[in-house]
Amino acid sequence: MAEPLFLKPVFHEKIWGGRKLSESFGYDLPDGDIGECWAISGHKNGTSIVENGTFSGQKLDQLWTNHPELFGNPKGSVFPLLTKILDAEDSLSVQVHPDNDYAMKHEGELGKTECWYVIDAEPDSYLIYGHNAKTKEELDQMIDSGDWDHLLTKVPVKSGDFFYVPSGTVHALNKGILVLETQQSSDTTYRLYDYDRVDKTTGKMRELHLEQSKDTITVPYKRPQLDIETVEKNGNKYTTFVQPPLSPYFAVYKWEINNSDDFKHEVGSYTLISVLSGEGQITIDNKDYSLSKGQHLIVPATVNSWKLSGNLNIIASESGEK
Ligand code: ZN
Repeated sequence: MAEPLFLKPVFHEKIWGGRKLSESFGYDLPDGDIGECWAISGHKNGTSIVENGTFSGQKLDQLWTNHPELFGNPKGSVFPLLTKILDAEDSLSVQVHPDNDYAMKHEGELGKTECWYVIDAEPDSYLIYGHNAKTKEELDQMIDSGDWDHLLTKVPVKSGDFFYVPSGTVHALNKGILVLETQQSSDTTYRLYDYDRVDKTTGKMRELHLEQSKDTITVPYKRPQLDIETVEKNGNKYTTFVQPPLSPYFAVYKWEINNSDDFKHEVGSYTLISVLSGEGQITIDNKDYSLSKGQHLIVPATVNSWKLSGNLNIIASESGEK
């Protein structure tokens, strides 16, 4: 069926979350401090449901299994990507994610390489990205003594920035930052440090995972050298942030659309689209579907080409898996 799959977001309450996802995107949020919008997800901890068309009401993980033609008959057993919007009203824990081998062995799921497109950041915001330990011994010793000031690298951040965060990278989003995250479909996080915070709902500090963190942090840290490229075509701007082979699990793009233009899948056989701002439409088989801020959709492999028109700022991604 040549039609887009519009998806309904799933929201998660977090100790560090807030209400910005309602203010910024008009989402109808549940009560509480909402930190994460799982916008495009086939993960069991929050699966997207299709909102339109032939597959209306079906879950993305079921579609992956029952309709592989939508995804180019992939080899993997799970939908490999997860698109989120994160509202860091407060700082996230300092954390690291395992690679595929470690995650599969210890957690029974994929590892987590992720990346962030910064939608908004308060003045003087920063994030933690990398560490300063030269050796494994130095790393272990700095973690054991809680020498966070010397261990952690702080990086200033502003809207429009992009960060690639391979598994094994020590990182944290700090307060006042709103990002769109594209990641492998994984929910495994090892916390090194959580600012000694107490969770309002449980009255306890959240669990730390020091041994797993030490096992998985890459030493020494090397900041990825990205080759971010923007090209102009038909008055539109197309930016490629990452793509295989540097980023083996996904390609991520920004499309700034002012004039209608034609598209096809570039790296993978299906394309994930998130509308960050603007209004417009996607046209598939001469049928128009309106697009507006906060919508998320997949253009499946059954669609060979499509047209976008209007004024749209989009983050798009494709799986690096074949
Ligand atoms: Zn993370």
